[in-house]
Amino acid sequence: MIEWKKYIIRPWGLTNATFCARVHRSLFERRMPMPTQFTEARRLLRDAKDVLIITGAGISAESGVPTFRGSGERWRNRHFSELASLRAFEQDPRLIWEWYLYRRSLVAACEPNAAHLAIADWAKSRRGVELATQNVDGLHERAGFVQPFNLHGSLWRNACLACMREREDDSLAFDAKDGLPRSPCHGYVERPAIVWFGEMLPKEEADQARAAAVMADVILVIGTSGLVPTAERLIDCAKAARAISNPFGTPSPLVVIEVNLEPSHVPCDIRLQGRAGDILPRLLER
Ligand SMILES: [Zn+2]
Repeated sequence: MIEWKKYIIRPWGLTNATFCARVHRSLFERRMPMPTQFTEARRLLRDAKDVLIITGAGISAESGVPTFRGSGERWRNRHFSELASLRAFEQDPRLIWEWYLYRRSLVAACEPNAAHLAIADWAKSRRGVELATQNVDGLHERAGFVQPFNLHGSLWRNACLACMREREDDSLAFDAKDGLPRSPCHGYVERPAIVWFGEMLPKEEADQARAAAVMADVILVIGTSGLVPTAERLIDCAKAARAISNPFGTPSPLVVIEVNLEPSHVPCDIRLQGRAGDILPRLLER
């Protein structure tokens, strides 16, 4: 095993990190599929020291939150991609805020489901569980999870356009004549604290999620749609970092488990197909 790197010719154009990650992936995936995958996934999660859970729209869809691939795709005959951008906000801030207030009202009528609750309970019962979510609905917090990494922002926060300072806000309407919220810090118009198209992920949360991915023994991916490659990037990052830190030895083990109703593009070692609300309570049962 120590000698393997000598005998593999690295294709031009690949960095060492990418190359090592690919070798690791090919070595690891050759051992799949595992027998009795559910039991194996349960054991791996129970024995893992550090776990990163990544959630996407699928887990919230089970609570009735509309997804951008379903009924949430269009609003007032506009596609969501025409609404979720700084350009759209600059052109018509009132319209964009109306859309976000409408989305707040939809989410306010939804409840965290059995999967949200199972994750929150599990994280309270042990150390080493981090959660990075692509969802902006706040259902993980309502289920009792403390400080998930909200990679795409939050529906329940506003950001001051003068200084970008954020504050929590659960208003479903604004009193001002122009229908726009004002920041307490500068009295300036606020925008939704959401990551729009063309914008960077919030640095602090993205850095924390990346560190959690690198430290994790198990990454558990739940209900990502493949619309955004956040989970894939975190997994690649974790594998590349391991390959760099062990360039001449066996990479330290990383297992990726996916729970999804429909097959996705996430590169995983164990795939559990079904509803998160059915699978998670049994998977994380103590
Ligand atoms: Zn401000």
